[in-house]
Amino acid sequence: MVAINGFAVSADRGALGITTFTVPGTSVQLPVRADVAPLLIGFARDFHERVERLDPASCWGYAYRAVRGSSSPSFHAAGIAVDLNAPRHPLGARGTFSSRQAAEVRRLAGHYGLRWGGDYQRRADEMHVEVILGHRQALERVTALGGASSSAGAHGPSSPRELPQQYEAFVAGSAPGSRVLRRGRAGDDVAFVQRWNGVADDGRFGPATEAAVRRYQAAQGLTADGVVGPLTWSRMGVRVPTS
Ligand SMILES: [Zn+2]
Repeated sequence: MVAINGFAVSADRGALGITTFTVPGTSVQLPVRADVAPLLIGFARDFHERVERLDPASCWGYAYRAVRGSSSPSFHAAGIAVDLNAPRHPLGARGTFSSRQAAEVRRLAGHYGLRWGGDYQRRADEMHVEVILGHRQALERVTALGGASSSAGAHGPSSPRELPQQYEAFVAGSAPGSRVLRRGRAGDDVAFVQRWNGVADDGRFGPATEAAVRRYQAAQGLTADGVVGPLTWSRMGVRVPTS
């Protein structure tokens, strides 16, 4: 079975639990996996309220297809990605949001356990966000954010700052953000970093992962030392415990 981060990829919507949700406060309808809908629909709601009004005709969710220009399955084929206001943020274009908007999109994405396509290193996809957590961690994030209500985020706190710690449900040890990662480390947190940077997520921090981390750090204006410390973690949307 083909899967992305533990989420199955299928042409069978029913098998994946694809459900169409209306983004609260809009007439936008997005088909996504029901169990992670609070992440994607919550993001879309906040995006509408804080970044840019959503256009119902140009927001998309589940689609059984490959990544454009590739044979790899798209996150859309697992129902764990959405595209918002696609024509305004075309594939390959950078800078379609103001810097203030981009910062807010990045912050909201981190809050909901998503990765923003504007942070792709190779080809920007600023319309796109996808669930970057593994399946188990994504469900934990849903719980931490207040549960999988049937309305998928129609209520509840609207300010990320008011919400519980993002990773409080994670076990210590290899939860993303719980330790500094460098070459030689292994674990779920390494796999997270690998997925974030688009390298094979075998959970082992080797030379390819180190190189990808260095590229990411350089692109983010951080010291490109290949070591994932608090600054790099927080840039990836991971809250680092302060104790
Ligand atoms: Zn997309």
